[in-house]
Amino acid sequence: MTVGIYIRVSTDEQVQEGYSISAQRERLKAFCVAQGWSDFKFYVDEGISGRSTKRPQFQKLMNDIESELIDVLLVYRLDRLTRSVRDLHNILDFLDSHKCTFRSATEIYDTATAMGRMFITIVAAIAEWESANLGERVRMGQIEKARQGKWAAQPPYGFNKDENHQLHIDEYEIKGVKLMVQKVREGLSFRQLSIYMGSTEYKPKRGYKWHIRTLLDLMHNPVLYGAMRWKDDLYEGTHEGIMSKKEFDQLQKIITSRQNYKKREISSTFIYQMKIVCPDCGNRCTSERTTWKRKTDKVTEVRNNYRCQVCALNKPNEAAFRVREIALTDALLNYMQAVSVAAPTAPIKVENDDPSIEIKKEIKRIESQREKYQRAWASDLITDEEFKSRMDDSRLRYSELQSQLEQTDTPVKSENDLIALKKTAHQFKDNFPELNDEEKRAFVQMFIESIQIDVVERPKGKGFRNQRIEISDVKLY
Ligand SMILES: [Zn+2]
Repeated sequence: MTVGIYIRVSTDEQVQEGYSISAQRERLKAFCVAQGWSDFKFYVDEGISGRSTKRPQFQKLMNDIESELIDVLLVYRLDRLTRSVRDLHNILDFLDSHKCTFRSATEIYDTATAMGRMFITIVAAIAEWESANLGERVRMGQIEKARQGKWAAQPPYGFNKDENHQLHIDEYEIKGVKLMVQKVREGLSFRQLSIYMGSTEYKPKRGYKWHIRTLLDLMHNPVLYGAMRWKDDLYEGTHEGIMSKKEFDQLQKIITSRQNYKKREISSTFIYQMKIVCPDCGNRCTSERTTWKRKTDKVTEVRNNYRCQVCALNKPNEAAFRVREIALTDALLNYMQAVSVAAPTAPIKVENDDPSIEIKKEIKRIESQREKYQRAWASDLITDEEFKSRMDDSRLRYSELQSQLEQTDTPVKSENDLIALKKTAHQFKDNFPELNDEEKRAFVQMFIESIQIDVVERPKGKGFRNQRIEISDVKLY
């Protein structure tokens, strides 16, 4: 099995710790050894930004994959490969068709499943968004944060995070958490606990009421014993906890044993809990569940809604904002699609037969020279410094030739370009509905900070059957 290792470092990143070529190379080498892969080949694009389309070594790697010389494409992080969602799709499809799998050394993606593809798409979408907004000095991805013991989302109750996203105990709130633990041990159900906590001085981070779901999430969260969970992976010793692992496991047993006959409590999956901003007052909507028996066949129907309690309290005679969960999911899909369509597209270059042959020859010569340096460097025949200086020397000439060549090419937006774009737009639409409610919830809670709603059509009276909403903004963590 042959592994193609792709390394890319931009000029800005070279000065940042952990990003240098040698750092990436060492870690990736170690990764291969750990996987038992002995046959690997480096492809290094040095001093090249993630948004650049001129990546000679990347092109070389793609050619080798096309010739089916490479079985695994390995990168240090997804953003080394691309920051464009559209590119990512093209690349993944390309890999599929040439029996090559994709691996990231620091992130977990299983591109064989809908969920995995979905994750990778979202991570890329965030990277693209960050790249567009923050340029090259882009922040680390959410997954990488968890790996490093960093908390990506809003910290759980009882904890704060510093500017390095490290969790710390909040001296005041943690007393509330300890009280919850004590009450659970004493035998309070989560419904009772939510009422009990409401009578104490402790108030949740958001909203004014303790929800069963929030309490359950907190009591199930390994954050209590100083660990972090991301998907199926657990990272222990990431911060200071309030109990030992043994005590935590014991607590889990107490909770699960009770849930067996309290099933309804855990099945309340509100996908957008505390994410919906009331369009009228700006407060967060609370989740509520309605059940009723259908008149025709007496089947019980369940529906999740979100409602602004603040508006309901302040304006009892008016209809407070209320929205169905299904309507939110539809609106979110539409919003995501619109975002993908609005994403910028790079023009696709088309090969032509004009007199650029000489330039191309010269480029080829420099490329093979650079490749030789790279090989020598990968086999430790030259030092990092030597390698860098040789690469620097040839790069200037190389980019001159590239721009000369570019002038002879005609940028044309091909039809394929538009097809690929539409495909990306449908990616979210196709995959999000495939996830079950728990997965949707995990997804939304992980990535989305808040969702702004626009009421397009407001029905008269208290009913909301004919209400039409749109999402005007989605804020990510
Ligand atoms: Zn409101």
